[in-house]
Amino acid sequence: MHRFATVLATGLCEAGLDVVHGEFFDTVQVRVEGRAAEVVEKARSFGINLRQVDADVVAIACDEKTTRAHLVAVWEAFGVTGSDVDAIDADTADGIPADLRRTSDYLTHPVFHAHRSETALLRYLRALSDKDVALDRSMIPLGSCTMKLNATAEMESITWPEFSTLHPFAPVEDAKGLLKIVSDLEAWLAEVTGYDAVSLQPNAGSQGEFAGLLAIRAYHRANGNADRDVCLIPSSAHGTNAASAVMAGMRVVVVKCDDKGNIDMGHLRETVAEHSDDLAAIMITYPSTHGVYEDTVREVCGLVHDAGGQVYVDGANLNALIGLARYGKFGSDVSHLNLHKTFCIPHGGGGPGVGPIGVRSHLAPFLPNHPLQPTAGPATGVGPISAAPWGSASILPISWAYVRMMGGDGLRRATLTAVAAANYVARRLDEHYPVLYTGEGGFVAHECILDLRPITKATGVTVDDVAKRLADYGLHAPTMSFPVAGTLMVEPTESEDLAEIDRFIDAMIAIKREIDRVGAGEWPVEDNPLRNAPHTAASVTVGEWNHPYTREEAVYPAGTSAPKIWPPVRRIDGAKGDRNLVCSCPPLSAYGS
Ligand SMILES: *Cc1c(COP(=O)(O)O)cnc(C)c1O
Repeated sequence: MHRFATVLATGLCEAGLDVVHGEFFDTVQVRVEGRAAEVVEKARSFGINLRQVDADVVAIACDEKTTRAHLVAVWEAFGVTGSDVDAIDADTADGIPADLRRTSDYLTHPVFHAHRSETALLRYLRALSDKDVALDRSMIPLGSCTMKLNATAEMESITWPEFSTLHPFAPVEDAKGLLKIVSDLEAWLAEVTGYDAVSLQPNAGSQGEFAGLLAIRAYHRANGNADRDVCLIPSSAHGTNAASAVMAGMRVVVVKCDDKGNIDMGHLRETVAEHSDDLAAIMITYPSTHGVYEDTVREVCGLVHDAGGQVYVDGANLNALIGLARYGKFGSDVSHLNLHKTFCIPHGGGGPGVGPIGVRSHLAPFLPNHPLQPTAGPATGVGPISAAPWGSASILPISWAYVRMMGGDGLRRATLTAVAAANYVARRLDEHYPVLYTGEGGFVAHECILDLRPITKATGVTVDDVAKRLADYGLHAPTMSFPVAGTLMVEPTESEDLAEIDRFIDAMIAIKREIDRVGAGEWPVEDNPLRNAPHTAASVTVGEWNHPYTREEAVYPAGTSAPKIWPPVRRIDGAKGDRNLVCSCPPLSAYGS
């Protein structure tokens, strides 16, 4: 990159052009009094986009895909012809100042040198993936995460260079296809949520919360209510809600939940009355993080509106709602959606995500916009919420394909299937692990919380024991201790078939029988297949076996017929590990003086 930039700059200098910086890495600025637009236009006619910094300055960035032909074309755009790339290359030293040049070695870790052939690298990657109980071997029942299928048909198009190599600041004329996807998605998301306008700029649900709250703040300011800065948040909320409110400059006031996990309406009324002068908003989640459709939702919205506040509904649980109800129609003013949950963008391993917000029309003027791309939001907007005008635009084709292939009926069926699956899990497991919260008729929404606390109290077996024991059964654990400590939250989604859901439930029931043996005193609390889980191959083959259960019970609890997933490590002490970091790199002393 630097070589190309150097040759490019030297060619321009030799032709008498004014290169702005003597030292640079990959980007060269050139001063061409009054001619910047003309140069950019000429380059464009060669199929190259340069950046016009202002009327006089053009910026050019080289990268690893730059070629000699590109340099010749860029020179020509500046009116420079006849320069010889190879000659300049041979004669020109690098432009990086000597005192900034790296002299130390890099990539010295053995892992960068151990796998030298494609076969060796392939085996290394396979060995890494074998350590993971991933979606290719087990359902991932993580509640609150919506780990649904990321279909190949949805994913394929993001590998196409037309999407994957588009620059975030490419001229809009060059991004017509992606912008069509943006506008289609905005319209479809508005339709499924009942909102009037959508911004795809936020890169995560949490960033959407921040954008939505900024819109609320700006709306209050525009109405002369700059003092309205209190944000009510029920105690059941996801942690990001309060964090976003604080970031948006609001004061958080927590609203209690009753013993059924629902918003305590009495406490809400009191709190709203107390803050009628400074109430900015309430943030609620629907269905709630307890996995229940709270039937007071309209009343909550009404109460807050009557007191002059705005309603933010966290839309992370939209998988329980599409095709059944619309936020914008039951009293909410703004929501974020998580395209990496409900709309199939993969998010195991942490991103990238998309957390668009939908708003009703009165908040639309306060959506995010972007100083470098006027079409990316309203002129009256709150400014950029992420660096790129349309956020993580290159992964939007995944959600576009999902909606397009499912259609309205398909999306509705997905919701109904997800809700049916969660209720099936809840009904079958309730007698073994009581379902903590249910709504009217004893139903849950798209996920359910299994209460382990009474079991822990009676037998000493903890949520950790159950979660780790699932690995011996070849299954990924559910979400642990969120949103209630000592519980497991299960979300099967519409993507899992009955056989896999039954495999999970059967394992959970078998584990309950093991717990009962601990409870009955047959196995001691400190030495049983749960407390010692997960069992690695080494743990059952090396040395003496002196536990009160058999090796077969340890590693083949569901029988020997199914393929065995061997956990690569035994249990670690999570809290101790967090406080005692161990670096697997060579020790610092290995790096010499
Ligand atoms: C996942 C989630 C969020 C945060 O979304 P991110 O995309 O992880 O930032 C917020 N609220 C709820 C209820 C969630 O489940």
